[in-house]
Amino acid sequence: LYSTCLFCKARLGSNEEIEHFPVGSRLAFDAAKGRLWVVCRRCTRWNLTPLEERWEAVEECERRFATTHIRYSTEQVGLARLSSGLELVRVGRPNRPEFAAWRYGARFTSRYRRYLLWSGVPVGLLAASVFGGAAVAAFTGGSGMLLYQGAVLAREEYSRRKPLLLVPAAAGGSRLVRGREAGNVKLVPGGGAGRWALMLGDGTRLRDEEGVRAAGLLLPHLNAAGGSRKSVDAAVRELDRVEHPHRYFTAALNHLEARRLAPVREYERYELLYLPHEIRLALEMAAHEEVERQALDGELRALEVAWREAEEIAAIADRLLLPAAVEDFIARHRRS
Ligand SMILES: [Zn+2]
Repeated sequence: LYSTCLFCKARLGSNEEIEHFPVGSRLAFDAAKGRLWVVCRRCTRWNLTPLEERWEAVEECERRFATTHIRYSTEQVGLARLSSGLELVRVGRPNRPEFAAWRYGARFTSRYRRYLLWSGVPVGLLAASVFGGAAVAAFTGGSGMLLYQGAVLAREEYSRRKPLLLVPAAAGGSRLVRGREAGNVKLVPGGGAGRWALMLGDGTRLRDEEGVRAAGLLLPHLNAAGGSRKSVDAAVRELDRVEHPHRYFTAALNHLEARRLAPVREYERYELLYLPHEIRLALEMAAHEEVERQALDGELRALEVAWREAEEIAAIADRLLLPAAVEDFIARHRRS
């Protein structure tokens, strides 16, 4: 159990330092509140752990942290690296904007760098064909170019097929939502003032906890380009405008309703894809905060379900073409 990232479904790895929680190579903990997260190395997201013995694990983390050379620390957050490579993030009492910037900054900027690595590819190919394609082809070798294009296409196909979450099916049971559906997701008004629902392409409406959880898994796909430091800061300020993260969904809905659209474009009014970039990033942060709050309120049972589902989806994703090898290929090819 707890071997897979709740969000990107990557393996979380293990450690030998924390006897009560040998999962993950980067752990974050809040000693005062007894919270423990595994930070995913791949997508950098924080996976809250529901286990009973987390108090013991948190205590172990605190002890380890206190006796290790501290690489970076403020009164609110500290980061320590143990000699085994395990990294500990200690959460003190940060104010909300600082905590959000700390938690989401690296996530969005690393996604942004990845995006730049990939997005440069088609532009480069286009430029090559316009400005002396022959010279570039001679330099990279024709077969290199083909592999390059193939890798880009393979990655796009993977992202379209990527399993994201399970939702209740109209005919009973559940159905899998894949990456290609994320682009059509809408945030629509639902059942009373200030209420909203997430609407999928097939008309399925997800509300309240279900809606927040789905938003948390769908938005990263829409925000695949991540954000620069500057847009992350703007998103943190956005989120800070509301008192509680769940209110931010209403704020985003108000924004969509206030848009001025030509009548022919009315159909796209509620599409998440058309929200301004920083509002979409802020909404992803809000979803993450709210899922954690609900999980903590519900004595962590919902979180156990989420972990189980992550393992289930990981098994499906494992059968698909793994993008890591493709990505390595592109990175290597770029360097050379
Ligand atoms: Zn992850």
